[in-house]
Amino acid sequence: MPIHEFDCLKCGHRFEELVGSHGTAATEVKCPECGATELKRRISPYAPVPRQLTPNQRRRLEDKRGTDRGGAKQRFKQQRAAERRAASRRAGPRGNR
Ligand SMILES: [Zn+2]
Repeated sequence: MPIHEFDCLKCGHRFEELVGSHGTAATEVKCPECGATELKRRISPYAPVPRQLTPNQRRRLEDKRGTDRGGAKQRFKQQRAAERRAASRRAGPRGNR
């Protein structure tokens, strides 16, 4: 997926841009808010999807896109585990009684 996430260094706006042969050339990406070209590219290990999707919807979307299922499933599992770990950490110290 040639979609990249960018942070504008000027106004802090975060946006996604399709970069590559079907989109904007990497050198021509501009902030849609202020037009600045000083951007920081974020490398996301995940295919970027709209944030308001639930994990379930996201997974279905990935399936539809034809991402290789085994890999996606495994990544999903890892993410779930990480989320659970983060949640229990937030809830308090764990296993320390
Ligand atoms: Zn900007």
